[in-house]
Amino acid sequence: MKGKRLLIALGGNAIKQAHERGTYEEQLKNIDITCTHIVEIIKRGYRVAITHGNGPQVGALLIQQEEAAERVPPQPMDVCGAMTQGQIGYMLQQTLQNKLKALGLKVPVATVVTQVLVNKDDPDFQDPHKPVGPFYDYETATKYQKEKGYFIRKVKPNGEKPYRRVVPSPDPIRTIEAEPIKLLYDNGVVVIASGGGGIPVIDDNGMLKGVEAVIDKDLAGERMAEVIGAEIFMILTDVEKVKLNYGKPNEKDIDRMTVSEAKKYLEEGHFLPGSMGPKVKACIRFIEEAHGEKAIITSLNKAVEALEGKTGTVIVPD
Ligand code: ADP
Ligand code: MG
Repeated sequence: MKGKRLLIALGGNAIKQAHERGTYEEQLKNIDITCTHIVEIIKRGYRVAITHGNGPQVGALLIQQEEAAERVPPQPMDVCGAMTQGQIGYMLQQTLQNKLKALGLKVPVATVVTQVLVNKDDPDFQDPHKPVGPFYDYETATKYQKEKGYFIRKVKPNGEKPYRRVVPSPDPIRTIEAEPIKLLYDNGVVVIASGGGGIPVIDDNGMLKGVEAVIDKDLAGERMAEVIGAEIFMILTDVEKVKLNYGKPNEKDIDRMTVSEAKKYLEEGHFLPGSMGPKVKACIRFIEEAHGEKAIITSLNKAVEALEGKTGTVIVPD
C-alpha cells in the first residue's frame, strides 16, 4: 500500500526559538529535533514534502545587507529570500539525510529554490503592512523613505526605534517550479520547497521578475500542497490546538472543525491576522480548492500523535 501524500509546513520554532539569538548551533539543534519528528513520520510510510518559514533568518540577512552596505553591495529582498531558502534547506536536508542513513533508510532529500507568482495588481502593493528587517529611529526611517522609497510604519507606540520598513504580503497564485517539484516528489524524493513562502515574482509582460514583498508561508504551502496532490496538509507551529476566543478567559480548544465552521470562526475574528488567520485560511483553501482530505494544525512535538488523530486541530470538508 502506498502511503498518504503529506505536506508539512514548518513554523518559525522548528528552526529558531523566540528567545534564541539564532546562532548556527542553536538553529542546528532545533532542526535536529524537527527532523527527528519528520523521520518518525517518514518511517510510518507517509510520503512527505516540506515547506518552512524564514522570518528571523531573512530579518537577520536584511540587517547584514544594511550594516555592511558601505563595503558590500546590498542585495534586494527577493535575493535574500533565495539565500534563506538555501540556508534553511541545506540544514534540513543534511540533517534528514544523516538521520535517514543512520536508520538504513534509502530516501533521497533535496531542496528546490522556489519562486511563487503573485499578482502585480494585488491590493497589498498599495497598502503594505508586513514589517521586515531592523527597527529605525525617526531620522533613519525618514532617510530610507526618501532614498530607497521604503514604506515606513510606526510599529511600536514609543521607544528609541519605533519604525520599521513594511512590505506587501500578496496572495500566492501558483508555484513556478511546480513541474520539477512534482517530478522529484513523484519519484520518491522528500522535497523541501517554497521556503519562506517562496520568492515572490510577478509576470512582467510574460517574463518573471522578483519583487520586494513577503508571501505568507502557510498560504504558499497550500499552493505547494496542490502541486504534489497532497491528501493531508499539516501545519506545525507552537500551539497544540487552535483556540476559540484566543487569549480570553473563555478560551477553548478546537479539536475538529468543518470548512464552514472554520469560515464562520474566521469571520468572527477568533484567529489573529498574521499568525493563526492565514493558517486557517490556507487549510480552508486546501480542502476547497485542492480537494484535500484533511488539514491539521498542531505543534511540532505532537505531529505524530496528530496524524494518529489523537490531538491537534483537524479541518475537514463539510
Ligand atoms: P509560525 O511561525 O508557526 O507561523 P505564528 O506565530 O505565525 O507561528 O502563529 C502561531 C501563533 O498564532 C500562536 O503562537 C498564537 O500566539 C497565535 N494565535 C492567534 N490566534 C490563535 C488562535 N485562535 N488559537 C491559537 N493560536 C492563535
Ligand atoms: Mg507565521
